[in-house]
Amino acid sequence: MIGGGVVGSSVAYFASDLCPGARVCVVEPDSTYEFASTLRASGGCRVQFTCPENIDMSLASLAFIRNFSKTMSLPDRPAEIDWVEGGYLFIVPPAQLKALEANVGIQRSRGCEVNVLSPAGLKERFPSISVDGLGGGALTPRDGWCDPNGLLWGFRRKAQAQGVTYVDDRVVGADVTATEVKALRLASGTRIEAAHVVNAAGAWAGDVAAMFGMPLPVAPLRRFEHYFTAGAPMERLPYVKDLQRMAFRSEGAGFSGGVVDGDAPRGFDFDVDHGYFERVVWPAIAHRFPPLEAAKCHRTWSGLYEQCELDGNPVIGRWNRRLRNLYTVAGFSGHGMMHAPAAGRAIAELIAHGRYTTIDLARLGYERVEDNVPYREKGIL
Ligand SMILES: Cc1cc2nc3c(=O)[nH]c(=O)nc-3n(C[C@H](O)[C@H](O)[C@H](O)COP(=O)(O)OP(=O)(O)OC[C@H]3O[C@@H](n4cnc5c(N)ncnc54)[C@H](O)[C@@H]3O)c2cc1C
Repeated sequence: MIGGGVVGSSVAYFASDLCPGARVCVVEPDSTYEFASTLRASGGCRVQFTCPENIDMSLASLAFIRNFSKTMSLPDRPAEIDWVEGGYLFIVPPAQLKALEANVGIQRSRGCEVNVLSPAGLKERFPSISVDGLGGGALTPRDGWCDPNGLLWGFRRKAQAQGVTYVDDRVVGADVTATEVKALRLASGTRIEAAHVVNAAGAWAGDVAAMFGMPLPVAPLRRFEHYFTAGAPMERLPYVKDLQRMAFRSEGAGFSGGVVDGDAPRGFDFDVDHGYFERVVWPAIAHRFPPLEAAKCHRTWSGLYEQCELDGNPVIGRWNRRLRNLYTVAGFSGHGMMHAPAAGRAIAELIAHGRYTTIDLARLGYERVEDNVPYREKGIL
């Protein structure tokens, strides 16, 4: 595994589970995870997608996450992830209501619990909301959020307990033939031979893929997350999202979230724009929830989305047309924490059985990149 964030650690855990006796090794240069996306994530997990693969990965991952502390605790170490079943609420203007209802139809057909709320229903349920300009909303009550740090370390510790080795080093090159990867070269000079290699390097996955001669359209996209409190008492909110990419939820005595700027320049930029909350986030949240007129931002941090520039969906699978033992699991574009359990298991299935045995993720494979055929989500990102 190249990269030991939540995705690489999930692959490592499932690989050691599905391939007993295999020697599984994760190369991760920074075990403090200072810049890793996982530790900067907001923790949200939701089923409100439109691609069946994303919905199915969410359902499987949510089931795994709900049971995480039971499945992943070690005799001497609990695996707490502070799961909060706070729900997700997508809100749309009248012109988008039909599309939202169509999305809900897809979600229900795959077994999701979703309630469609009228503006009056929204107001009754969430008294602070202003329903001005809203056609309705979709509430998924079994969605929620967890602690991304706990999730990553739960996977990592359990993987280590199952024999996985974490190597404190950086992959800087690879030895490849015309059809397969033979070995990885590390910054320390060490060479690791491997039968299977997995690129799980998050926002760095594009650079890592280039070491194998693989063009992977995954780029770092800076996103701000803010912790803020209301000026007046308010009810607790689910994870609220709208079409302008406002996204926030209750957290402790306040709220956590922001407004995603999908046009932010790509690059490894962690600088914080301290004017962003007042300029962009505050007008959006105060318009929709008037008690947030007097919101106070206490902290802003930045992190990277590993943005798939082709279509915003992850690339998951083997490089079937060239290096057949090189696997990619990256480009989640803001959904990698919630999909880490299912995606990790999927890659482990490919390694162990040569095919998917639980969720068929073939449509998320690298072939769509090679053929330049985007596969997009239709719902809110
Ligand atoms: C502000 C913010 C909020 C978010 N909110 C959510 C959310 O609510 N829900 C959700 O599901 N997702 C969310 N995300 C997205 C989520 O954080 C990512 O999709 C997820 O963490 C990706 O995990 P990863 O393991 O692939 O990447 P990372 O956690 O970044 O791990 C990649 C690892 O690869 C290592 N690496 C890099 N280069 C090399 C190399 N050459 N050799 C070896 N290792 C290398 C890095 O050191 C790093 O530790 C959010 C992201 C941000 C920034």
